Amino acid sequence: MAGIAFIGLGNMGGPMSANLVKAGFQVTGFDLNPEAVGMARAAGVTIAESARAAVRGCDTVITMLPTGRHVKAVFDDIVADMAPGTLFIDSSTIDVETARELERLCIERGLQCLDAPVSGGAVGAQAATLTFMVGGSEEAFERSKPILAGMGKRQIHCGKAGSGQAAKICNNMITGISMVAVSEAFLLAQKLELSPQALFDVVSTSSGNCWALSTYCPWPGILPATPSTHNYKPGFALDLMLKDMRLAQDAVTKNGSVSFVGAVAAQVYALYSAMGHGNEDYSAVMKLLQGLAEEQASGDARS
Ligand code: NAD
Repeated sequence: MAGIAFIGLGNMGGPMSANLVKAGFQVTGFDLNPEAVGMARAAGVTIAESARAAVRGCDTVITMLPTGRHVKAVFDDIVADMAPGTLFIDSSTIDVETARELERLCIERGLQCLDAPVSGGAVGAQAATLTFMVGGSEEAFERSKPILAGMGKRQIHCGKAGSGQAAKICNNMITGISMVAVSEAFLLAQKLELSPQALFDVVSTSSGNCWALSTYCPWPGILPATPSTHNYKPGFALDLMLKDMRLAQDAVTKNGSVSFVGAVAAQVYALYSAMGHGNEDYSAVMKLLQGLAEEQASGDARS
């Protein structure tokens, strides 16, 4: 069995590559960040001196990089070094057009291609419980299954190239909107002198329930393991949520769809990022709303 090259060993790619090693695969990795490289090496990943060196001799290449721009740049760099028949899997969250272009370029060169973004976050990456949303041919999907199974517990074939990214963007648009909605409800409850615990107990078993409330509650101290309870340490960085909300809005514009609430929610994340909070967890929008309410109250008191 030839090995797997893994490019991008950050918060997600680091533990994902480590889990492939644990599952018995020979993994060669590359990252620009020495800290990420050091952690992957300690987990048993063989480190190459460049992305091109990493992919030589491997029959599968996985990328886990920040944006579509990074993925395309790395792809252009390594494409000549991937042997015909190599399976190229991009697990980053990127735009649908780039995912489709990558498949087209792979087919031209006799390579197989899948877009396979994930949900489950850094915790799921560490525990190998990620869900993969996969776009591409049935044949490439079947081939990828044992590899994806080493990093996650579910693999869903969503359809043709780009469908995995489409599913991911739609999912995160819902998550991003619902986090703002839940935060607004907690703030309103506070103003109405309703305890946050009472709000949680009612809504988590009522029609307003959603993942952002019951699993990722933005009010600190309600759930023990959430970023909100740990001073909004990510988790899932607000800037990455902003990236996904913008990917959704771009897709809305380019494909003639309609989005009111998604557009507003994207602006909420953009505002808090511009205020210097992009590295906090995205549930920190709770603090943005509280801060704005305080400013409003002190403005009212002055006037
Ligand atoms: P990260 O910033 O921690 O890791 C990205 C890594 O890519 C970094 O270590 C960086 O040094 C490396 N890199 C950038 N350019 C490179 C290049 N040219 N060559 C080699 N390495 C390069 O980001 P992450 O949290 O691991 O996220 C990766 C992707 O997964 C993103 O697209 C993100 O949206 C998506 N994602 C993240 C989460 C999460 O909870 N963090 C959840 C789901 C999906």
